[in-house]
Amino acid sequence: MLSVGGRATINRGNDSADWLTEGATDVDLHFEYFAGPPEEMHGLCEGDRQCALCGQVGLCFELDRALVFEMADEDKEGKVGCAECLRAGRFIFGHGTDLGWLHDEGITRLYASQYPIPDDFPESALEALRRTPQIDTLQGERWLTHCSDFMVYIGTWDTEHFRAHAPDGDPGALYVAMTEYYPRIWDDQRSFDTISWEHWGPRYYAFRCRHCGALRGNWDCD
Ligand SMILES: [Zn+2]
Ligand SMILES: [Zn+2]
Repeated sequence: MLSVGGRATINRGNDSADWLTEGATDVDLHFEYFAGPPEEMHGLCEGDRQCALCGQVGLCFELDRALVFEMADEDKEGKVGCAECLRAGRFIFGHGTDLGWLHDEGITRLYASQYPIPDDFPESALEALRRTPQIDTLQGERWLTHCSDFMVYIGTWDTEHFRAHAPDGDPGALYVAMTEYYPRIWDDQRSFDTISWEHWGPRYYAFRCRHCGALRGNWDCD
């Protein structure tokens, strides 16, 4: 399935998960930083639910992992919030990024592998990412940055995506160029075509820079 770069609105074509196409109200799931398929949005509930904040009925996110300003933590359980309320900042999500953990008061660097925040990194980008769904990952997000901004998440990639985007027909070289940490089977780009991804079971998260178009990505596995 090639869904790279598409708007994250519900695609009612063959590519959409069944639970997104059956009976759900048409809700705008477009987010500036999330252009991957809606089924890769963490905590997006199946079918229509009623938003606990505005009362609107449609596709909603579980609030368990969200920060909801107008609701006590113990009241969030089992409640959901709609995409419009997320975009309006009535609830927000923390995010793992390559600069640290993004939360309501800023970014806290947790690991040595996280970078210092560039001086010209805009405050507005922090707020926009807080109002973005989390990526459904196996081990936790590392939202990448480029050109002093968060990159746009464009979805999970498999070998076909690398082939489709390799400018010189060398998907292994593209993989190595995009990926900061690539141990194990792809240490050597020549192994790209010879070792089965299915066997290893990695999930590769691809991002595109909003400013220069650069592609980067990272992976995890269970
Ligand atoms: Zn709402
Ligand atoms: Zn860039």
